[in-house]
Parts: sequence; structure tokens; C-alpha cells
Amino acid sequence: MSSPQAEVGNLSLSTERRGSVMIIWIDVPGASVNTLSPALVTEFESVFKEIEQDRELRGAVIASGKQDGFIAGADVEQFATFRSAGDAAHVSAVGQELLNRLEALPVPVVAAIHGACLGGGLEVAVACRYRICTSDAKTILALPEVQLGVIPGMGGTQRLPRLIGLQGALDMILAARNIRPARAIKMGLVDEVVHPSILLDVAVDRAAGLAEGRIKRVRRRRSVADLLLAGTPFGRSVVFSKAHKSVVEKTQGHYPAPLAALEAIRAGYDRGFKSGLNAEARLFGELATSEVSRQLVYLFFARNATRKDPGVVGDAPTPRPVTKLGVIGAGFMGAGIASVAVQAGTLVRLRDTELSRVAAGLRAIRDVFMERFVKKQITRLQLDDMMVLVGATTDYSGFGTAEVVIEAVFEDLDLKHRVLREAEPMLDPGAVYASNTSTIPIGKIAEAAAHPGRVVGMHFFSPVHKMPLLEVVVTPKTDAQATVTAVAYGKDLGKTVIVVNDGPGFYTTRILSVYMNEAGRLLDQGASIDAVDAALVDFGFPVGPITLLDEVGIDIGGHVGRVLGEAFGGRMAPADSLRRVVEAGRKGRKGKSGFYRYDHHGEKGAVDESIYPVIGRSQRRDIPSEEIVERCVLAMVNEAAMCLEEGILRSARDGDIGAVFGIGFPPFRGGPFRYIDTVGADVVVKRLEDLHARFPARFAVTPMLVEHARARKRFHSGR
Ligand code: NAD
Repeated sequence: MSSPQAEVGNLSLSTERRGSVMIIWIDVPGASVNTLSPALVTEFESVFKEIEQDRELRGAVIASGKQDGFIAGADVEQFATFRSAGDAAHVSAVGQELLNRLEALPVPVVAAIHGACLGGGLEVAVACRYRICTSDAKTILALPEVQLGVIPGMGGTQRLPRLIGLQGALDMILAARNIRPARAIKMGLVDEVVHPSILLDVAVDRAAGLAEGRIKRVRRRRSVADLLLAGTPFGRSVVFSKAHKSVVEKTQGHYPAPLAALEAIRAGYDRGFKSGLNAEARLFGELATSEVSRQLVYLFFARNATRKDPGVVGDAPTPRPVTKLGVIGAGFMGAGIASVAVQAGTLVRLRDTELSRVAAGLRAIRDVFMERFVKKQITRLQLDDMMVLVGATTDYSGFGTAEVVIEAVFEDLDLKHRVLREAEPMLDPGAVYASNTSTIPIGKIAEAAAHPGRVVGMHFFSPVHKMPLLEVVVTPKTDAQATVTAVAYGKDLGKTVIVVNDGPGFYTTRILSVYMNEAGRLLDQGASIDAVDAALVDFGFPVGPITLLDEVGIDIGGHVGRVLGEAFGGRMAPADSLRRVVEAGRKGRKGKSGFYRYDHHGEKGAVDESIYPVIGRSQRRDIPSEEIVERCVLAMVNEAAMCLEEGILRSARDGDIGAVFGIGFPPFRGGPFRYIDTVGADVVVKRLEDLHARFPARFAVTPMLVEHARARKRFHSGR
């Protein structure tokens, strides 16, 4: 949609009359999306005043002048301006006041929603009398505030439960759940879903119709469970305590926002709307100025910055649009890559050595789509349409027209050379050839290429359709065109992309490897498996390193360990216990035999005690959890700094993004470099030196860290 009026000066709001209905257009000048700022609040106040004084007016519509978005939320830049919790609480109270006024306007207001309607944007919509959204795939409604470490602060915690019921609201607010149109109408979040071409006309008609009494809002039918649980004080306390328990389990106590949201919602139920709003503003203020939110907001901006980064420094050539992708190897990763490519609308040719393997790949791709179909995110027709985009082959037919080819065959340099030699003559001369290797330097792979300038690494993470990161690896020979095309295509696939320079294990595999290996060393010394895992989960990793090894595959972990051990020697020499478990043939979860027990569905159970004799240390000894954390985390952090120093990483920002989105470094700590800044480089150096004295060869402090400690320098300036 676009507003018919030229913007007046720097204003974001403009109004238009359609008969007795006013359309309020939001179009923040110079921005790609609309966000709510104090300036916009002031503009809204004056439009509301106009509505309150206009006796002719029968209704109003709020619509966006942006092509594909309603309101994307509050302007996050504001967070940096909050001086105190009280300050932030005041901003929240002003927003609440505005929406109270919107709700109380003498005429019905209809929200006409197309595209992203997030955070404060959804709070605006929920304060309207009636909501219509488009059926378009771009239309998403959500309250994602907890992802920034805060809660909705403009009455969302109070109005949403009243609109859609307690259960639905908890689900949306605590889990930041994205709601698409079909679900939105079902749960009563919107009143109508229409095609984008008629959104505005329908909205104007409904505004007039509501005023005339011709249209009535259909009240959502509440389910029996909802009535029994949310409808009585006893039932509600059951719901709240269950939600509390599940939040604590999920967040391990590291993220205060979901619990604060529960508190605000509960205050509204127990003490009424006004008290609920007060609790909301107070809690918003406390959270918005908290350390956790500071780190999450940093990651939000850092991630946004990577979206604008073309991947090369200086003048960037225009990336080549990718309409067709060739994938070599239809295994676990190849199928995963094909599945995300197809979902982005790319035509895919999938090659493996035998038809049976390609067929298994196609099944794996279908499974990814089935999961979305079962969750009602796509229709059966869309599923079938997507499958049509994948063509399977055992030769290179169809590869000649692909703009990008990604190789995902076994992790074996000779094989990768053979495949590259075989494939290259079949490809378009301008095509990018990418390897999905997780350890082998791309430069080594490119030695087999006639045109090494077109060879890059595109390191995806498993499972590809869920993991957000893509690490693009470039060699000194990679040309800028290949880099920008790989980066732009990664973004098309919905990935957060970092570009790193070549080296064994690049960045992510390298820092993960020292961390996991140190966990292995702890086992060498008699630490128990569950103690190591528990300590690092407590630090904030989603799973502990030993569980992760079982998940990734002990054989794969062993292979990576060997390759990096050979490349870096001493500090990366594989831990004895890990080596022994690899040699014993245990493969982890996929083989249902690892450090933990697995049932026949592959569900993880307790530690498999029979592994201790394999490790060769049946005598356990307690190692304090602080030492476990310190050794594993500082090994990782020191290695990350080394990667920056060696130029593997281009920036500390990329290092933080790679660690958080690629290997699960705790987001509330902001990433390894933010962690160093928060703890202080001097403290990190001192601890590393102590470890170095105890364990020579593993913890030698990298000079860059020493220099940061000496000069009291930080990796990041700003908040
Ligand atoms: P996989 O064993 O599941 O699949 C490899 C596939 O390559 C098999 O289907 C095999 O038949 C096929 N293949 C072998 N030779 C071929 C040839 N000449 N032409 C076409 N296909 C051929 O392995 P995977 O886990 O998908 O790993 C593939 C690559 O991705 C490896 O380089 C690995 O290091 C990397 N990687 C794996 C993960 C992971 O978690 N599994 C993560 C990141 C990167």
C-alpha cells in the first residue's frame, strides 16, 4: 500500500478523508519500516485531538504508507537514551497513555494491517476497535519484546490477554511467537483477513459500519479449557504457576523478561487494568536498563548491521541474482541446504552418486516442508509446489545454468578435489563454487580449481533450516563478485551472514573445537560428564559440550579434532578421553551410543556409566563448576581473540554474531568480545595467565588481549 499524499515536512503521519472516515497514514520518512518514537507519539496526539474535536467524523483507519509493513515496533535506538529505570518507565507510561486515548476515541478505529505488525505496532492495533490483516505471506503479528530483554510497554501485557485469552497471550508474549493471518483470525487476534488489494476499502467500510452499528465484532468463543483455567482465580493461578515453571526451565534463570511479563499480566488480573499498566511500565523500565537487555539490544543492532554488509570492504560489485542452485551431495547438509533454497524460491538441482541417495535427500527435504505443513505454516499446495522446484540427478545435468553450486560431500579433501575437478567444466563461467566444509581450508580445496577466484566456503550449520548463521569463507584468491554473490544469496536464504578469511576451522569450528576439547580434558582429569555439561548450561549455553558432541556425532567431532589438532598442534591436540571414545566406535545420538543413554526414539537419558571405563578414568573427582566454566569459556574467548588478531575475523562484531548464532554462545552475554569487555580484558588476561601456569601450552594469552588489558581498551565502543 502507499499513501496518496506527499509527506509534509518531516512528519510521519498524514490524514486523508474518505467520506466520514479518516485514514491516518503512517509513513516514517527516510526509513524502510515504520517504528514508534517519541516524535511519532506527539504526532499521534495531535491527530487524536483532531478526531476528538471533529463532530462530522464517524470512524478512522490506521494504515501504513510502507509497501510491506505496518509498524515494526518501537524505535530500538531509544534504548540508548534511557538514563535510568525511571526514565524508561516514563517512556512506557507515555506510550500507554497514548493508546488509552486511542482506545477511548469517540469514533471506532480500525487497524489495516499488511506486513510486519510487531511489538508496539501490534499494541497499537490491539488498542483499536477492529483489526483487519491481509492474507499475504509477509503479514506477521507478534510481540517479540522478550527477545530484546524487555516486555511490551504500551499496554500489551494488559490488552492482549483480554482480547485473545490468557493462554494465547502467554504463548505470544513469553515465547515471542510469530502469528500468521490464518492463525490470527482463529485465535481472535484479528477480526478479518482479506486480500491486500482490498484492505483499505474494507477497513474504511468497517469503520463506517461499526459506527452505524451495521458491523459488530464477533466475540471470540472461549474454549472450555480457557473458561475453566483462565476464567477463575484458581484456574489462573494454575496457569501462571505452570507458565512460571516452564519459563524457568527454558531460560535457566538467565532471562528476566518472560517472568516480568508474567508478573505484569498477573497484576492486571489480580488488581485491575490500571494496576496492570503501572506494573508493566515499572517492569519495562527495570528491564530496559538491565545488563541482559543491553546485550540483546547490541546483538539486534549487530545483526542488522550484518544485513547491510555486502561482504567486501570498499566498492562492492553488484551481486549476481541467484535463480538456480546446484547442490552436490544429497546427505544431511546437502538436503538441508536444498530445503532452505527451495523455500526462498530457488530452483535446485540436487546431485548424489546413486539414485537411492538422491531419493533419501528428497525425502529429507520433504520432511522439512512436512514439519511446516503440520504446523500450518504452509498449505499442501505450497508444499507440492516447493517439491516441484527440486530436480534430482546423478550426473551434472542442469548444473550449467546454476549461478551458485554448493558442494556438501563427505569431509575428505581428495574427494572434494575430485568433485571440484569433475564439476567445474560443467558450470557457467560466472558461477560461484562453494564448499560446505566445516574444517578444510577453502584455499586447499581451491587448489584443484581452474578458476580459484570463484571458490568460496559457505559453511551452514545443522539443522540448516533452523540454524540462523552462515559463515562465508573467502581466500586471498576469491574474487569480490563471488563473495558478494555468496553473501547476498545467504541473506536471501534468511541467514545472518558473516564473512571470514580462510584457515583451518575458519572461525566458528575453531573456537568450538577448543571449547569442546577443554571439556574433554576435564574428563581426562576425572570430571564427571554431567557436571561438565551442567556447569556450561548454567553459564548459558543451550546444551553442555558433551551433550553437543553426542548430538553432532562423536565420529564427526573426532574428525574435526584431528584436523585442527594437526593444524594448530599443542593447544588443540585431542583430549585422551575423546580420542578413546572415538576409537571405541561410539557415534553419539545417531548411533544411540554415546556419553549419554538414548532410547529407541533417540531420546536422551542419563549418563551412560559404561563410558567411564572407555575413557579410562573410572575414578571420578569433583572439579568445581567455576573451574569448568573458566577453562572451557576462556579457551574459547582467547581463541576468538586470536582469530581477530590473525585476521580470520574482520571485526569483533562478526565474532560475537558468529558465536551466538552459530554455536550457541549465550546471547545475554552478547558474544565472546562483549564478554571480554564486560568482565574486563585485564581480568580475562589474569585468569588466562593463571590457567597457563597450571596447564602450559593451552592457555597462552594472545597478544591482542594483553594489549587490550594494558591499554584498558575495549573491543566495542558504545553501550
Ligand atoms: P553426509 O554423509 O550426510 O552426506 C554426504 C553425501 O555426499 C552423501 O549422500 C554421499 O553419497 C554424497 N557424496 C559422496 N561423494 C559424492 C560425489 N562424488 N558426488 C555427489 N555426492 C557425493 O554428510 P553431511 O553431514 O551432509 O556433511 C557434508 C559436508 O558438510 C561435509 O563437508 C561436512 O564437514 C559439512 N558439514 C557438516 C555439518 C554437520 O553437522 N553434519 C555441519 C556443517 C558442515
